[in-house]
Amino acid sequence: MIDYRSDTVTRPGKEMREAMLSAKVGDDVFEEDPTVNELQEYAASLFGMESALYCPSGTMTNQIAIKAHTRPGDEVVCEAQSHIYVYEGGGIAFNSGCQAKLIPGYHGRITADQVLNAINPDDIHKPRTRLVGLENTSNRGGGSCYDFNEIVAIKEVCLKNGLALHLDGARLFNAIIAKGETPSDYGRVFDSISICLSKGLGAPVGSLLLGNKDFINYARRIRKVFGGGMRQAGIIAAGGLYALKHNIERLKEDHHHAQLIAEALLQKSFISNMFPVETNILIFEVNGKYSAKSLADALLKNNIRVIPISPTQIRIVTHLDITPKDVDKTIHIINTL
Ligand SMILES: *Cc1c(COP(=O)(O)O)cnc(C)c1O
Repeated sequence: MIDYRSDTVTRPGKEMREAMLSAKVGDDVFEEDPTVNELQEYAASLFGMESALYCPSGTMTNQIAIKAHTRPGDEVVCEAQSHIYVYEGGGIAFNSGCQAKLIPGYHGRITADQVLNAINPDDIHKPRTRLVGLENTSNRGGGSCYDFNEIVAIKEVCLKNGLALHLDGARLFNAIIAKGETPSDYGRVFDSISICLSKGLGAPVGSLLLGNKDFINYARRIRKVFGGGMRQAGIIAAGGLYALKHNIERLKEDHHHAQLIAEALLQKSFISNMFPVETNILIFEVNGKYSAKSLADALLKNNIRVIPISPTQIRIVTHLDITPKDVDKTIHIINTL
C-alpha cells in the first residue's frame, strides 16, 4: 500500500529504532530524563530560543501555548481554516475559555493589515485581543508557506498592540526547506513555536513547544494539568532527536515527489483548481468522470491511499516512507485513469 493520506503515517526506520532502543531514560516529570532534556536543549538551540518542552502531540503544544498566553474571555486572532480552530476540538474555548476572531486567508495565510483590523479597541464591550496564531506551512492551504516579510510585518503589529504571537509550525521545517530559511529566523520573531516531530520528520510520537524560560516553565505546569506529564519519555524522545538530526534536509525529496505527482495529475481532464504545490501537500478538485470519493476508490484498487477532504477535493501528502519507486508507480497509475 502506498499511503498518501498524511505525513503522520511514517514508521520509524531501523536507525531511529536503534536510537530509541539505546536511549538513556529517567523520570521526565522530575525533569530527570536525559534524552528528553537533550531533545529540548537541542531544539531550543536550533531555534536560538531559551527553552523547549516535549509534549505528546501538536494539539497539546498549541493548546498549552494558547492557555499560557491568554486569560478567559480573551480573543485569539487566527485564519478561518487554521488547525487551532478547525481541528483541535474547540480547544480554544474548552481549555482557555477564549474565543476566536477568524480571518479569511489566502491559502491559509493572513496579512499584517488583516491582523491590525481584527484588533478590538479598549472597550469593555469587546473581548480583549490577546494572541495571534499563524500556521506555517498551512495545512488547509495545501502546504503553503508564508513570505517571511509578512510575518515580520505581523510581528510589528503585535508589538505595537501588546499581542503575543504564536506559530503552529507542525510542518515548519517544510517551509524552512522550501524557502531557504533557518529555524533561528523564526526563533527571533515568535513568542512561542510548536513543531511536530511525528509529521514529515518521521518520529513516532511528539511535538515541541519553544519559548523563553518563564514561558516554558509556565507551559510545563499547564502540560501537567492537561495530563501530558510523561515519565520515561526518553524512549520516544530519542526518535524525535534522531529526526531533528537526520530528517530535515531530506524534506526536499518529499517536495520534489509532490511536484512530480502534481504534473501527472494536471494532465488529467478531471483534475482542476490545484492549490500551488509549495511543499509536500497537494489539494485539488475532482470533477467530470470522477467524484472525490470515486477517484479515491479507483486509486485504492491500485493500492494507493488518498483522502477526500470534501465531496469534490482530494488531499495527497508525500513523506519519508514514500520512495521514488512509489512515486513512479503512482504516476503510472494516474496515467491509466
Ligand atoms: C498535525 C497538525 C497539528 C498537530 O497535530 P497532532 O496530531 O495533535 O500532533 C497542528 N497543526 C497542524 C497545522 C497540523 O497539521
